[in-house]
Amino acid sequence: ATEDIKVLLLENVNQTGREILKQQGYQVEFLKSSLPEDQLIEKIRDVHVIGIRSKTKLSARILKEAKNLIVIGCFCIGTNQVDLQYAADHGIAVFNSPFSNSRSVAELVIGEIICLARQLGDRSNEMHNGTWNKVSNGCWEIRGKTLGIIGYGHIGAQLSVLAESMGMSVIFFDVINLMALGTARQVETMEELLGQSDFVTCHVPELAETKGMIGTKQFEQMKKGSYLINASRGTVVDIPALIDAMRSGKVAGAALDVYPNEPAGNGDYFNNDLNTWGADLRSLKNLILTPHIGGSTEEAQSAIGVEVAQALTRYVNEGTTLGAVNLPEVALRSLTMEEPNHARVVFIHKNIPGVLRKVNEIIGDHNVDKQMTDSRGDVAYLMADISNVDTTTIKELYTSLESLPSRIMTRILY
Ligand code: NAD
Repeated sequence: ATEDIKVLLLENVNQTGREILKQQGYQVEFLKSSLPEDQLIEKIRDVHVIGIRSKTKLSARILKEAKNLIVIGCFCIGTNQVDLQYAADHGIAVFNSPFSNSRSVAELVIGEIICLARQLGDRSNEMHNGTWNKVSNGCWEIRGKTLGIIGYGHIGAQLSVLAESMGMSVIFFDVINLMALGTARQVETMEELLGQSDFVTCHVPELAETKGMIGTKQFEQMKKGSYLINASRGTVVDIPALIDAMRSGKVAGAALDVYPNEPAGNGDYFNNDLNTWGADLRSLKNLILTPHIGGSTEEAQSAIGVEVAQALTRYVNEGTTLGAVNLPEVALRSLTMEEPNHARVVFIHKNIPGVLRKVNEIIGDHNVDKQMTDSRGDVAYLMADISNVDTTTIKELYTSLESLPSRIMTRILY
């Protein structure tokens, strides 16, 4: 029953998320901070659901203690803080919120395009230092200029619409063929994009192929006096090559929101030994430097709360794994869930030959309305909707499934 579900929320998870979980009738314990390891182990033993942000490390050592845990919600983008494989191997689903902040990033980039075109960062710095320096040379309107978007995914596509509404022409390059929004146009090669764009902005994921994808050769292919923006990942742009391109005047301005070796917390950054180019960056004109704030807005935080809390309740109530980062994505329409004498069997198991035959020997005697199975690596997820079952049968089903050697976790929802 929902009121038996115990939820522990750490690290001041957004209120939107808390409310959704409370409305479900779950027992929700909310803490503003993360917990020291011994206290976390103490608490995690008891709960079915845990919600964290980036500071709580859920290592195998901690998860080992979490005997009742069925799902982890990361109320953030990253999931590196969780041992995803250990969780999958023990049938614990993990959800995050990868796209809640797409709009925030796109809006930041729009702001930066205008700031770069008008050298706003420099003018503001000069005024802060007491200098009046009125210039129009090298300052532009953005209307009629071409924006080249590399990576036309969630952020790239949002940006495309916003940029067109400000009068820019948009071209984009992506490794897959995509439906262009508005009057944007997909180009065949990155070289084509670089040669035509007044502003180039990167919105690709961090992959082996995107590492250093903007380097010396790409700067050569860009228009003289064009601008570069990177709010994707720090490895995408080769920073020494950018410094050279800005010094030579090839690139008239740039905005960086992401860097190689980003620190874990606020404080000193450019003064560390890892970033030998720090002093060079700081000395450049018309270079906007921001500390990975692209997605950092109140709206994105509340959207993250909603997205993750909804994924958690769907998982707890219906067993749906859509959006899980460590389990196969399985869903059945929940129409029949409400009917009396209906049960949904969720059987998380090791992906070994012959399992399904065994499972179907158990559930096959019943009226199976729908069934779906998928696997991800060594772990498979089966969901089956069964009608005309009573509580005694449900208990029998549960016991039989639990006795299979391939079993990782059995849940029967009714
Ligand atoms: P997405 O997955 O929705 O889109 C990425 C797009 O890049 C896809 O269309 C994909 O096909 C394309 N792509 C992949 N490899 C490519 C290549 N080699 N060349 C061209 N295109 C390629 O991702 P998203 O949500 O739009 O995020 C984009 C980037 O922004 C990610 O790196 C993400 O980590 C980063 N991000 C940064 C912030 C921030 O605070 N600055 C916030 C959110 C996301």
